Amino acid sequence: MPTVILMYHRLSREQAQPYAVPVPAFTRHMRMLAASGASVVSLDAASGMTKAARRSRHLQVCLTFDDGCEDFYTLAAPILSDHGFTAAVFMTTAFIGKTAPFDGADTTFLSRSMLQELHAAGFAIQSHTATHQDLTTLSPDALMQEMSGSRSMLEDILGAPVHHVAYPYGRYNESVVQAAAGAGYRYGYCAGHCPSGPYTTARMAVHGGDSPLAFSLKMKGIAGSLRSLKCTLRDRVFREPAS
Ligand SMILES: [Zn+2]
Repeated sequence: MPTVILMYHRLSREQAQPYAVPVPAFTRHMRMLAASGASVVSLDAASGMTKAARRSRHLQVCLTFDDGCEDFYTLAAPILSDHGFTAAVFMTTAFIGKTAPFDGADTTFLSRSMLQELHAAGFAIQSHTATHQDLTTLSPDALMQEMSGSRSMLEDILGAPVHHVAYPYGRYNESVVQAAAGAGYRYGYCAGHCPSGPYTTARMAVHGGDSPLAFSLKMKGIAGSLRSLKCTLRDRVFREPAS
């Protein structure tokens, strides 16, 4: 079965926001995952780096968290650990250990020691570039700096290889894909519908206001299949006739 890669951003003790899932809702998501019998797999496994993952006939779900906000350490990791679930954090390296305006609010990000502790606990720490820019707008030099600067900093902090990069805002083009490969990443991740490939792996966003039914459809890959079908139909209906 295909692996479903879910994309979270942050958790919140307060009400739902588009990119913040309240703690009670996240707890419910993890309980639903546990009850579904799905295997929660690592990012390496989800990306096909392990043969066992590719052979599995069971639903596999990979949990990812973008940006590297501190609430992954304080709120998400304890709930994940209660279920024995692993997850991957895509860290924007310029924010490590800082509190900065981000996504409309002051946000505190994971520190070096938190990243090291999470890595030692079995969570994957991977790249969300250096400064979280729209990569499709950058010059080739700036693009390479975003890619390689972030990778080398994380490898220095963790003492472990970093193979995965998630593109900020999910935006990418051919130059971005080439830069990811050139910087030494093996896999790149976008958001939403994108052509399948090692540097264009789709993820399904989980939002703060998702109903239990919406989460269930996302978790089982049904929402992704419906979205792909919709995109395929749209492409066929609106495609310019070949001249
Ligand atoms: Zn982001």
